[in-house]
Amino acid sequence: MADPKGFLRHPRREWPRRPVGERVKDWDEVYVPGALLPLVEPQAERCMDCGVPFCHEACPLGNLIPEWNDLVSRADWHAAAERLHATNNFPEFTGRLCPAPCEAGCVLAINQPAVTIKNVEVAIADRIWADGLAAPRAPQRLTGRTVGVVGSGPAGLAAAQQLTRAGHTVVVYERDDRAGGLLRYGIPAFKMEKRHLELRLAQMRAEGTKFRTSTEVGRDIGGAALRARHDAVVLAVGATAWRELPVPGRELDGVRQAMEYLPPANRVCEGDLDVSPLSAAGKHVVIVGGGDTGADCLGTAVREGAASVTQVDIRSLPPAERDEEADPWPSYPTVHRVSPAHEEAGELGFAQESDADARLFAASTLRFAGDAAGRVRAVHVGAVDARRRPLPGAERVLRADLVLLALGFRGPEVTAGGAVAELGVTVAPDGTVARDEGYATDVPGVYVAGDAGRGQSLVVWAIAEGRAAAAAVDRHLMGTTSLPAPVTAKDRPLRA
Ligand SMILES: Cc1cc2nc3c(=O)[nH]c(=O)nc-3n(C[C@H](O)[C@H](O)[C@H](O)COP(=O)(O)OP(=O)(O)OC[C@H]3O[C@@H](n4cnc5c(N)ncnc54)[C@H](O)[C@@H]3O)c2cc1C
Ligand code: SF4
Repeated sequence: MADPKGFLRHPRREWPRRPVGERVKDWDEVYVPGALLPLVEPQAERCMDCGVPFCHEACPLGNLIPEWNDLVSRADWHAAAERLHATNNFPEFTGRLCPAPCEAGCVLAINQPAVTIKNVEVAIADRIWADGLAAPRAPQRLTGRTVGVVGSGPAGLAAAQQLTRAGHTVVVYERDDRAGGLLRYGIPAFKMEKRHLELRLAQMRAEGTKFRTSTEVGRDIGGAALRARHDAVVLAVGATAWRELPVPGRELDGVRQAMEYLPPANRVCEGDLDVSPLSAAGKHVVIVGGGDTGADCLGTAVREGAASVTQVDIRSLPPAERDEEADPWPSYPTVHRVSPAHEEAGELGFAQESDADARLFAASTLRFAGDAAGRVRAVHVGAVDARRRPLPGAERVLRADLVLLALGFRGPEVTAGGAVAELGVTVAPDGTVARDEGYATDVPGVYVAGDAGRGQSLVVWAIAEGRAAAAAVDRHLMGTTSLPAPVTAKDRPLRA
């Protein structure tokens, strides 16, 4: 700890965002380029180097947060990067996308604003790329074993990088035309520009990982052929089977799933399309679902030039501050969070009706109404109490030309002839692929990592699972492993 009174000297300061009016005109990240670095060293000095660092406990990767805070506060960026990469393959992803359970668990957060751990993380990661120090780390020798990784989201990529560096020959199969999973065609560029993904993919290729894109396991290569080709398989196909909303009018034209809407918008940013076929330009948009996917639809619709955007959330407006009874420190609390997309839609007055920043809370979607041509024209919502029971009172009617359903995901796609069926693995009652604590399915040599085994989760958990599944595969192939396993398949986030 460079300064034991750092937290008294320096107030928390975060990476400033660009003005709302400027950033909604482009797809670049919302932060002011170059404005983070001058802030970071004093911010890292706020870290108290706690005897029991709960930040570290709250992070599934077990990031060595006090160590890299100390190194950054002493401006030893290269040593900080070494410690950061010791536990995280892709800190430039988590530094941008993670909801930061580490900050919720920071000891300073008991009675002060937490250390800006996520900002320190992304600053180290970006600095190392800028200094050309993220060189590929190809293995010294090959083991002669080969592993097939199905899916190139953060879980598949982390598993592939760990196994390649351990000397195995790794092939990643991805059904999309580009690698990245939800980082590529789900999460919008204003949250993470795709150039960060490209840098890592180039590093992985240079290390020896092979990518077979536009190759769907099940359709283009069968389960038996995949198992015959490889000594082990890691199934990292994500949880992409979306939840439905079976209310009257669901069949109307213009009622679409969030993950039908976000990929073409991302393809516009990739240069594949001039305009998305589902563009919100000039439309009244209603997003059903109050989570992060809904917020990503909100920010995308605002940038596409929607006439209005309203996000409907069945949950009640959460408290502004942590409820110490329900959500005591160091758990991740339910509080009213304002993402950059909410800030934009709120500040620019995008919603037709709103309780807070373009969101309607405690509102249940009752039905969709359409016109004679079968196109959606309105969404009828009713009020509910905190336990989601309908309340008497007038329905509200929101004008809508485009409705986006962002209700979460049930688990991996389980279809006849799909990867899960082809590999013959058992599906658990909750819809995820069944596995033991060590990521093994009931088919010998087939392991499962990320959302496919955990259910809909976070990038940080996907990376942690990819690393741990790689350790399990390495042990299976070699009898022993020195790869780290930060979480078991049964571990869950810190809860009260
Ligand atoms: C819109 C959206 C926004 C999100 N935002 C955030 C965020 O800001 N922060 C955060 O932490 N988390 C976020 N998440 C969650 C996070 O993206 C996921 O938890 C994470 O990507 C899961 O990683 P994964 O590798 O398990 O699966 P995925 O990222 O889903 O990747 C699975 C890959 O497998 C491929 N695949 C599937 N079947 C086959 C097959 N048969 N053959 C070959 N390939 C196949 C898919 O095409 C896909 O590329 C978001 C999720 C969504 C939907
Ligand atoms: S809990 Fe907070 S103050 Fe303590 S070591 Fe972690 S980041 Fe530093």
